[in-house]
Amino acid sequence: MNTNFEKVYINGEWQKGTGEGTIDVQNPFTQESILSISAASKEDVKNAYEVAKLAQKDWKNTLPQKKQEILYKAIDIVESERDVIVEWMIKETGSTFMKSMGEVDVSLNIMREAATYPFRMEGKVLPSITEGKENRVYRDPLGVVGVISPWNFPFHLAVRSIITALATGNAVVVKPSTKSPVTGGLIFASIFEEAGLPKGLLNVVVGKSSEIGDEVIVNPIPRLISFTGSTDVGQHIGELAGKHLKKTALELGGNNVFIVLEDADIEQAVESALFGKFYHQGQICMSINRFMIDEKIANDFTEAFLKRVKELEFGDPSAKTTHIGPLISRDQVDRILDLVEESTKEGATLLHGGQAEGNVLEPTILTDVKQSMSIVQNEIFGPVAAIMTFQSEDEVLSLANELPYGLSGAIHSRDLDRAMRIAREVETGMIHINDQPVNDEPHMPFGGEKKSGLGRFNGEWALEEFTTVKWVSIQRDKRDYSPFIQ
Ligand code: NAD
Repeated sequence: MNTNFEKVYINGEWQKGTGEGTIDVQNPFTQESILSISAASKEDVKNAYEVAKLAQKDWKNTLPQKKQEILYKAIDIVESERDVIVEWMIKETGSTFMKSMGEVDVSLNIMREAATYPFRMEGKVLPSITEGKENRVYRDPLGVVGVISPWNFPFHLAVRSIITALATGNAVVVKPSTKSPVTGGLIFASIFEEAGLPKGLLNVVVGKSSEIGDEVIVNPIPRLISFTGSTDVGQHIGELAGKHLKKTALELGGNNVFIVLEDADIEQAVESALFGKFYHQGQICMSINRFMIDEKIANDFTEAFLKRVKELEFGDPSAKTTHIGPLISRDQVDRILDLVEESTKEGATLLHGGQAEGNVLEPTILTDVKQSMSIVQNEIFGPVAAIMTFQSEDEVLSLANELPYGLSGAIHSRDLDRAMRIAREVETGMIHINDQPVNDEPHMPFGGEKKSGLGRFNGEWALEEFTTVKWVSIQRDKRDYSPFIQ
């Protein structure tokens, strides 16, 4: 597998990008420069879309077993090159060893599900209201898909769009985040090149969003823009794509609730919370943002949580036992420390943590938090637990639904019927009882409501998003057009 990632990948060739300057990548933990890539230009993006369009003509008619052969090979390569992928995740994004291994596993699950799609391009034969007519519905690929991926789970969140698009007969142009150009893009060029994917079907353009971002969206060739990232950028992409009448799949930010009712198993809730808050330093769209604990058990929960938080190891992400590694950049550390400071000024109590060394922010707990505070109004995207309390079911539901996000969530209670009733009322795309919000299964619908996005990944839902249907009818007997034609 090619691991020289200094160029962009267009039409099956590693080429120097023709944009201005380079994209330089830093290791978020050591802050050393690890890579410099020649940046792609608008022309490179146009070229990538042209070759993708051409290549897709043959790909859509390639037999399903041939498509599968290539997808299975790509899966084998991810399995056999796991060490290389994990090493890049650690050095490019500051992912801990544990998270990197987990990300490869979840990606493999999605790849295996997508490998079934070539044989699942189902159509339908339906009755007609016209005498002598047969109605058919064909499922077709969209054509070319533009993929924009984020840095936090770059491998997983890029591959779920790339492989779904390819498996359903589309060609792809990927623009990864400039913070994760390898694990969110270029590494897939290497994987699929080795798997034997025909040239032009997968292209990776690495460049500044200010230079190439709009072209990735407004270029007339792509029929779908599959974007995973922040709500602000997602809204911009939705507007541009809407103007050009393109489909969008938007997987955006969250402000996820973690509700603990008074009859919960506190130990189970605490262990769920440790994972749901601190996995990947809290930099997951599904991470817990709002702890909502029934005030009757708030002291017990907080005490048990604090005890376990003190046991978490933070620091070097490559150490196998590290729970919390660095944040992606110093900007993020400063942004989160400002939120913590602001919330303490607004009346929150800093119970634990609040210090950073380099880009590693120690696990931090705030209590006496109110929904009006900016730490709660914003997606924290870092290892800070903001604990609020509530007095009644009505109150917790109105707090949960008041904010404009709805990605994931969790509820703890020993009364499963009550938890289910509340779960059904929370305005969210996903919610989990007696667990935490970070869940992704390859056959279950993944996606958000409200400002958390549009569309669903995985299983039959992703198959639907990345394809379109065409009505073809056959008039078998001569049709009667009277009274228009007598
Ligand atoms: P981001 O929105 O800053 O960037 C995402 C991608 O968009 C990157 O590739 C970036 O280069 C690109 N981009 C930025 N501006 C652009 C523009 N004007 N035109 C075209 N492309 C542009 O997000 P991020 O910081 O990389 O990721 C973190 C955010 O992503 C968080 O808000 C998180 O909740 C969200 N996220 C959502 C999901 C989900 O599945 N719902 C998953 C992971 C992350």
